[in-house]
Amino acid sequence: MNPKKLKCCPWCGYGTGTRYGYRTTRKQPFFGSQKPSRRAAEDRDHKFLRIAIEEAYKGVECGDGRPYGAVIVRNDEVVVSCHNMVLRNKDPTAHAEITAIREASQKLDQISLADCEIYASCESCPMCFGAIHFSRIKRLAYGATAEAAGSIGFSSFTGDAWKDAGFPQLEIKKIDDSGAEQVFEMTKGKFI
Ligand SMILES: [Zn+2]
Repeated sequence: MNPKKLKCCPWCGYGTGTRYGYRTTRKQPFFGSQKPSRRAAEDRDHKFLRIAIEEAYKGVECGDGRPYGAVIVRNDEVVVSCHNMVLRNKDPTAHAEITAIREASQKLDQISLADCEIYASCESCPMCFGAIHFSRIKRLAYGATAEAAGSIGFSSFTGDAWKDAGFPQLEIKKIDDSGAEQVFEMTKGKFI
């Protein structure tokens, strides 16, 4: 056997490396995590949530609806960015999350969004929770609490009761310090 073809280390299965070469050529720790750092994950969440918040402002500004936005992300790329359309569409079900799910499904030409995440400017209502469930979205991240919406007279009805009742595949995360609560304060003059 050619000694140069020996496995370079007990962990290398290729058998073609230079002996001990893994120590100098492998840039990532062999058993180390490839996951982004916690800070990088937080920055990523804030980046996408910021887009949802901007959508909320945009929807109010153009008169389409109430101050809510939602963004659907796949593989770190925005698939769709939408806002509440209840006034424009004369449709009480046209919440930001519902609108985003419909548009993303059309755009991706599929009814399962299992490889997607949704960022919502505000905690989702039971209807949107249901839609997120049926779309199979894997992760929901939101900014403002429903109580913040309730403070200016919008519904503070949430899907809390559903969270423990059957969303095993859905990861839910509240994102703090995003500026999402301010959306209601800044736009309340349009609604009160
Ligand atoms: Zn909703």
